[in-house]
Amino acid sequence: MTTLFISDLHLDASRPHITRLFVEFVHREATQAKALYILGDLFEAWIGDDTEDETADQVADALAALHVQGVPCFFIHGNRDFLLGDAYARRARMTLLPDPSVVDIEGQRVLLMHGDTLCIDDAPYQAFRQQAHAPEWQRAFLARPIEERQAFAAQARAESQRYTRSVDDAITDVNEGAVRSALDEHGVLQLIHGHTHRPAVHRIDFENKVAERIVLGDWYHQGSVLRWQFDGDASSVLNDLQSI
Ligand code: MN
Repeated sequence: MTTLFISDLHLDASRPHITRLFVEFVHREATQAKALYILGDLFEAWIGDDTEDETADQVADALAALHVQGVPCFFIHGNRDFLLGDAYARRARMTLLPDPSVVDIEGQRVLLMHGDTLCIDDAPYQAFRQQAHAPEWQRAFLARPIEERQAFAAQARAESQRYTRSVDDAITDVNEGAVRSALDEHGVLQLIHGHTHRPAVHRIDFENKVAERIVLGDWYHQGSVLRWQFDGDASSVLNDLQSI
């Protein structure tokens, strides 16, 4: 059976065709899967579970239906939807996993992350992340009126876009040393993450073995999915990263 991994869909009302593509993917392919893992940035922005959002409703309905079909969905927060909370997760019937998480996929230990914590060369972003992941900051933010939260999110997004355009690509990519530390710390040879929007399968010489870092693609103009298949023979695990 196949385990599916996706990330960086950045769903919002401005790209309804991508939301439709996702809902269709959930209703069709995902119902045949063993599990669906969403590794962050499912939504373009998330300012709390208490807002009214048609896109979020459609996504919750689709994922809840998937749960009814017996397919579990797991979610790791991204840097855009890190405030997605228990209330929405319950509605969508998805299980929140910490970042990072090591999971067993067909007998292999696989490290899952959104990927932003690997981009340690991006000091301004890491400073913001540290602040925004503090429980006090989150409590204070979520207590603000919805309009204020929306204004903050819009401004943060504009600043982030300006910033990303202004710095070298290498700054916003993962740091090789951070990747090796993560593999070492968790004792794994498989890492799957998103965030950088640079889909690829990287092979890394690691302690006389070959480790694999799979980067999922974004869903700006099309879908991108990693299909992890296993047909009973440990040597025939097939990792297939494709656009849909
Ligand atoms: Mn991201």
